[in-house]
Amino acid sequence: LFLKALEIQGFKSFPDKTVLTFGEDITAIVGPNGSGKSNLSDAVRWVMGEQSTRALRGGKMEDVIFGGTVKRRQLGFAEVSLVLDNADRALALDEDEVMVTRRYYRSGESEYYINRRTVRLKDVNELFMDTGLGREGYSIIGQGKIDEILSVKSADRREIFEEAAGISRYRHRKEEAERRLERTEENLLRIGDKIDELE
Ligand code: ATP
Repeated sequence: LFLKALEIQGFKSFPDKTVLTFGEDITAIVGPNGSGKSNLSDAVRWVMGEQSTRALRGGKMEDVIFGGTVKRRQLGFAEVSLVLDNADRALALDEDEVMVTRRYYRSGESEYYINRRTVRLKDVNELFMDTGLGREGYSIIGQGKIDEILSVKSADRREIFEEAAGISRYRHRKEEAERRLERTEENLLRIGDKIDELE
């Protein structure tokens, strides 16, 4: 599994459609301060479902959309696509190439696509779960992240190991099942009350 290409349009400092293709041998992106290097890693994080505007170095989600310059008007939406080589089937999709796309409009509307088919954010999260990629993955280590990992609570640190061990998927499903069980128990209680009232 490796990153083949990144397509950016209207995201942060990239108003024009920009396509970056990566071979297996790209190890670094260099450039002067403020030229947009971090914006590229933000784009990767964002398309993989990042919801925290703080992690994206902004105040609100709208800040990811090109905000205009003296010469250029602001844009109405941002779109990023990530093309991954899936020949090894590391992602649970029977496709050699997987393209994940996220689009966000100033109106607040979000769209997600996997191989150009509309999906939910949940599907994107599930696609990357236990692969080390994705929102809870550790494939992107931002500035300050190492310190954070060393200082966080042991329970949070455990989550990093759980993702690496490939068991986050099960933890998520267990949590979902527990929530459903709780709701069902509440419903049962309510039904019990109703029955009491009727008797
Ligand atoms: P550094 O070396 O400081 O990490 P960098 O090359 O990583 O720099 P970035 O932080 O990626 O640079 O890019 C910052 C630039 O992106 C700034 O010039 C900023 O004005 C621009 N930028 C960020 N968000 C937007 C936006 N929504 N619209 C237009 N430009 C933006």
